[in-house]
Amino acid sequence: MTGGLPAGVPAIEAVDVSRTYQLDGVSVPALRGVTLTVDPGDYLAVIGPSGSGKSTLMHLLGGLDRPTGGRLVIGGRDVGSLTPPELATLRNRTIGFVFQAFHLLSRTSAVDNVALPLVYRGMGARQRRERAAAMLGRVGLGHRLDHRPNQLSGGEQQRVAIARALVTDPTVLLADEPTGNLDTVNGQAVLALLEELNTESGVALVLVTHDNEVAGRARRRIAMRDGVVVSDSAAPPGPAEAAAAGGAEPVGGVR
Ligand code: ADP
Repeated sequence: MTGGLPAGVPAIEAVDVSRTYQLDGVSVPALRGVTLTVDPGDYLAVIGPSGSGKSTLMHLLGGLDRPTGGRLVIGGRDVGSLTPPELATLRNRTIGFVFQAFHLLSRTSAVDNVALPLVYRGMGARQRRERAAAMLGRVGLGHRLDHRPNQLSGGEQQRVAIARALVTDPTVLLADEPTGNLDTVNGQAVLALLEELNTESGVALVLVTHDNEVAGRARRRIAMRDGVVVSDSAAPPGPAEAAAAGGAEPVGGVR
């Protein structure tokens, strides 16, 4: 599946993208020329120290924010050419978000939390509930439809958030430290669920993580430092990376 995109069109393409924040009259360059492509069905982890620009990159890739330089194309549409409502519609159609802190509505049932993104589709209440209930069944919570978040465990709350992110059938799921608030067992289960959804539904999975073990499971790893991508395991190593990795020519000249 390519998420409704014509074959060969990347899900997201960032070309020399930068983002500078203005803080009390001072420019803070959070991203300084990032180029990367997310293809339909990808599974990639973004790693890097705190402050390296991971969250800023996620906000841009998800169309929550716009670059101050470079070109960003989401679902074949150049973000720079879109009005705010057009960008919001594109985001709703293309991207699902999962955050460390779940961000569920606390006084709203699981099924209504999951159904919320469908309101913006103009879908009727009954159909919304049916779709949301089916999605909760898909993440193993078919028996918890009417529970409110405080009646669910952390792992269950994150499953509700995953169901909410996927109920619109997005091309890309952006997950910022999705296991950061969970114990090891629940963290592993949530990660396994995300991987299963990636494999079975073909949604591209972009995971920000501090955890090298989590990153090690991804098919592709992108390392960031000081607002730039310092390595991308999908790209062939450039001369600077090869030098950093060992300095010498590969033994026998084999690459
Ligand atoms: P990470 O997610 O890797 O911790 P961030 O993307 O949050 O990194 O931050 C990158 C840099 O941009 C940091 O130096 C941070 O202090 C700065 N920054 C992030 N958000 C803002 C903001 N809204 N205003 C000013 N500076 C910001």
